[in-house]
Amino acid sequence: MTYWTSEDNVAGEIGIALFIILPTIGCYRYRIGKACYMCSYPASAPKSPWSQEEIIDYVGKALEKIEGRERVAVRIFTSGSFLDDGELKPETRKKIFKLLAEYDNIEEIVIESRSELVRYDAVKELADIVKDKHFEVAIGLETANDDIADVSINKGNTFRQFVRASGEIRRAGAKVKAYLLLKPIFLSERDGIGDIKESIRKAHPYTDSFSINVTNIQKGTAYERLWEKNEYRPPWLWSVVEVLKWAKKTYPEKRILSDPVGAGSKRGPHNCGECDRVIANAIRKFSVTQETKYLENLDHKCKAEWNYIIREGILDWQLITY
Ligand SMILES: [Zn+2]
Repeated sequence: MTYWTSEDNVAGEIGIALFIILPTIGCYRYRIGKACYMCSYPASAPKSPWSQEEIIDYVGKALEKIEGRERVAVRIFTSGSFLDDGELKPETRKKIFKLLAEYDNIEEIVIESRSELVRYDAVKELADIVKDKHFEVAIGLETANDDIADVSINKGNTFRQFVRASGEIRRAGAKVKAYLLLKPIFLSERDGIGDIKESIRKAHPYTDSFSINVTNIQKGTAYERLWEKNEYRPPWLWSVVEVLKWAKKTYPEKRILSDPVGAGSKRGPHNCGECDRVIANAIRKFSVTQETKYLENLDHKCKAEWNYIIREGILDWQLITY
């Protein structure tokens, strides 16, 4: 089953999130051979397509998991775009939102879409169904730097397209979440941190929540090929801590979220191996509570090496990786 719950930040307070991966056909960019370099999520989209009715029933079944729970967020992923008519018909989207509207305990709803697929009418008709709930449309901006988006990610979107989509979403009465990618390929650890800070600076007027997505190495991707040759190392958890602390202090009114997927493993963000669990837990605790105290006073002997790499701007392929 591809739905599950976990503790999370729900419209600003601690609550429970229900994650649902909808079995649509997945991202159209992937289907036309233009996948983002780090992403293989659409590879797990169903081989034979589900009918729209089956998808709606699937959501209904997933929602049984939150019956009797308080303060719930529902986060819907499709391995593509919720607002892509090729994945979900407009009528299907509305039916799903009507199901969500029946649950008083749902306080927050998040869907995802590529920016070029965001249209005012499509967001407005959904926002109207869940008027009393915190409704966010998440967009994979990844970086506000168009060159990095092109060369290191193959995103096929520009910052201008994100700004346009943000305007449509807000005009329709919903909020904007921006996904940012920490450490695209070809950047040093230091430049990865610099890129994400610059992206937050540029995007903050158009964004309500930032989600700092830390690269993890997915199967069959360009990221995996570089990683196998020791030419790319997923970010240090120290870098995640640095970015989150800076972002929350600089923009305290914004929600700054991060769930470091695969933390502590070679394919995920990691430190030395000894301190990974403690640091990853601190990151998750901060994300759920938005309190920077969980990120203060973290230390381990490997931090000196990270400091050196940042100070000198060392590139991954200059390192003996581990
Ligand atoms: Zn360590």
